[in-house]
Amino acid sequence: MIEAKGLTKRYGSTLAVDNLSFTIEPGRVTGFLGPNGAGKSTTMRLILGLDRPTSGSVTVNGTPYAKHRRPLTEVGALLEAKAIHGGRSAYNHLLAIAQTNHIDKKRVGEVLELVGLSARAKQRAGNFSLGMGQRLGIATALLGDPSILILDEPVNGLDPEGILWIRNLLKHAAAQGKTVFVSSHLMSEMALTADHLLVIGRGRLIAAAATSEVIELSSGNHVRVRTPNPDGLTRLLDDKGASVTRVESDSSLSIHGLTIEAIGELAAANGVILHELSPVQASLEEAFMELTEDAVEYRAPGTAGDGIPT
Ligand code: ADP
Repeated sequence: MIEAKGLTKRYGSTLAVDNLSFTIEPGRVTGFLGPNGAGKSTTMRLILGLDRPTSGSVTVNGTPYAKHRRPLTEVGALLEAKAIHGGRSAYNHLLAIAQTNHIDKKRVGEVLELVGLSARAKQRAGNFSLGMGQRLGIATALLGDPSILILDEPVNGLDPEGILWIRNLLKHAAAQGKTVFVSSHLMSEMALTADHLLVIGRGRLIAAAATSEVIELSSGNHVRVRTPNPDGLTRLLDDKGASVTRVESDSSLSIHGLTIEAIGELAAANGVILHELSPVQASLEEAFMELTEDAVEYRAPGTAGDGIPT
């Protein structure tokens, strides 16, 4: 469990993290989202004691990170891939960390196996590709078999097979009861991986909720209808206060403001034939854009409301 209370970090005139309070629960994957510059990396560094809060506090399993006697067995973190000694082999890199943290040497072979690097264990880590560096970073995070995993953009540089592997690894860790806190700017991936989301913007909390709840709040959710009588149905829907848009590409109607049941019953009561009546769920990307609209630091000109967050 990770608990932040009034966590605040100021760098000169920049308020990077602004009075954040949250709890990251064990047993599920919590995704950490926010536009560029929202304060995600700073929050992760504060959790790991790599930066000191200006005010407020954050604990991991009830204690500030720096006060844990064997921190690697509490929290495994991947903040910046390739933060490694390039001249060392992957094996020796992990061995050095294991030996300085009283972790059994045999765990080195286990984590190399787990991340698929056994065959490359003797290669100099400095020659690793970004994806292999990411795998080594994840091996390092797993070394102490910690109950908390904190990973900043772990799928960066990974191919589709690697992305699927990370997704399964995180879900498996959560199913074992671990606390998994992971940031990513790949919304489609987050929608598949995270059970819960913490969304911040300009250092402040925007949302802390189940992924499904965050998506449900989006105005992108609507009902799709096809009917041979679109004008008749549109009039009936207008009378009920729904908002109807004609989708020219396939002559369907896109309806906001009425439930799918109400639309079906309205059509039936008025003898309007329907060829299709289906719910359309917003993407996490759409939900995220709406939530963070006011908190984007930079938006490309001409993309009002749809700047690409990273
Ligand atoms: P994110 O990870 O969400 O992109 P960051 O935590 O990196 O956001 O940054 C949040 C804000 O704090 C940004 O405005 C950034 O420029 C600023 N910032 C981050 N680290 C430092 C630092 N060491 N010194 C000064 N400003 C910083």
